[in-house]
Amino acid sequence: MATIKLNRPKLDAGEKIYLGAIFKGFFLTLTHAIKSLRGKSAGAEGLASSGLGVTMQFPEQRWDEHMPEYYRGAPTLVTDEQGRERCVSCQLCEFICPPKAIKITPSEIPSDDPWAKVEKRPLEFDIDMIRCIYCGMCEEVCPEQAIYLRKDYLITGTSRDQMVHNKKKLYEIGGVRVGLVNKWNELK
Ligand code: SF4
Ligand code: SF4
Repeated sequence: MATIKLNRPKLDAGEKIYLGAIFKGFFLTLTHAIKSLRGKSAGAEGLASSGLGVTMQFPEQRWDEHMPEYYRGAPTLVTDEQGRERCVSCQLCEFICPPKAIKITPSEIPSDDPWAKVEKRPLEFDIDMIRCIYCGMCEEVCPEQAIYLRKDYLITGTSRDQMVHNKKKLYEIGGVRVGLVNKWNELK
């Protein structure tokens, strides 16, 4: 087997005791500290930081305005502008969800309802936010544009039960989404 001989770099006395590197590190830290105290930290302006470094002063300051359009937060259910549930309880999102965070109990729409042709709506719709990995596949697969990942990122709770978003909570966070979906089209 061929061997390759590597020549170690020759270090002078200063390099051997790391003094140069230590002072260089101190100088760099001092430069950043002074910049930070003067409110000139790199990136501070973009985060609306107080100037004391780039740390956002949470909770007085929030990420909300700085979220990029593509940010994927909590998955939610949405209604249309007339308060109708878009979800038809097809359970595609429940099937596709990788960590099995979604649990749906479908129910029928009564035959005397003007929208009985829609057939189903969710009786219960739970998303376990401890399991959810914010992948967005439920949004991708939904044929009725009924489930969306909103920008909410403050998902907290003091028990496992509180971390399960039920149908009421999902609609609360989701709100209204305007735009035609097929199930409300009388001609289809
Ligand atoms: S975002 Fe992904 S993990 Fe979360 S509920 Fe939707 S499909 Fe499941
Ligand atoms: S949210 Fe969409 S994919 Fe999930 S059950 Fe309702 S209609 Fe089907």
